[in-house]
Amino acid sequence: MKVIGLIGGMSWNSTLEYYRIINQSFVRKLGGLHSARLILYNLDFDEIQRAQHEGRWDDIASILVDAGNAVKRAGADFLVICTNTMHKVADDVEEKVGLPLLHIADVTGDAIRERGLHRIGLLGTRFVMKEPFYQERLRDRFAIELLVPGEDDIAAIHQIIYNELCEGKIKASSRRVCADIISRLVNEGAEGIVLGCTELPLLIQPGDIYAPIFDTTQLHAEAAVNLALAEG
Ligand code: GLU
Repeated sequence: MKVIGLIGGMSWNSTLEYYRIINQSFVRKLGGLHSARLILYNLDFDEIQRAQHEGRWDDIASILVDAGNAVKRAGADFLVICTNTMHKVADDVEEKVGLPLLHIADVTGDAIRERGLHRIGLLGTRFVMKEPFYQERLRDRFAIELLVPGEDDIAAIHQIIYNELCEGKIKASSRRVCADIISRLVNEGAEGIVLGCTELPLLIQPGDIYAPIFDTTQLHAEAAVNLALAEG
């Protein structure tokens, strides 16, 4: 069984979900008292989010490289960065740490392809919805076309993520805002919706909307378990 190296705390509310899903999945697969062999490096999200909003991505990359090196020294066999947004620096981290990295967009792309879908709505932070790093990966590697909300909706979702969900605040009014945005994307032709922020599943559950949901937290955590249990 491989050792999972989690880089988390972005925010800690979603990292808690990774921890729960990974361990519950081990019990489901192996039974009894099994649990995951994992190392968690929890970062201080205040420092990270400041750097994100000031555009200091090189600083962010070096913080993640340090965390990756720490979990590598502690015995991790591969890296899992517990956020979509921070995958902006994932290739850099993988190369500099020298451990395989389980990329959240690849795991999501696999799940969308398995369902045979091609046009997907994307919700996440402004960085995920507006910058190319996430969408290009899904387009180039999986031939998935992504629909993103308009400017006002992007601002609303970004605000909900950073000012509510990352602080563990779950509001019915924000659930309605997101459900309306999702409905608009579906009306524009989205065949499913990627919850491309690891806190969004705290707010939106599959029963809340009528389109297939791709929960990146669940998909990424379960893929980490499969990789940990894979031969070789
Ligand atoms: N966890 C979120 C994500 O999946 C947002 C927090 C962050 O900026 O990392 O993108």
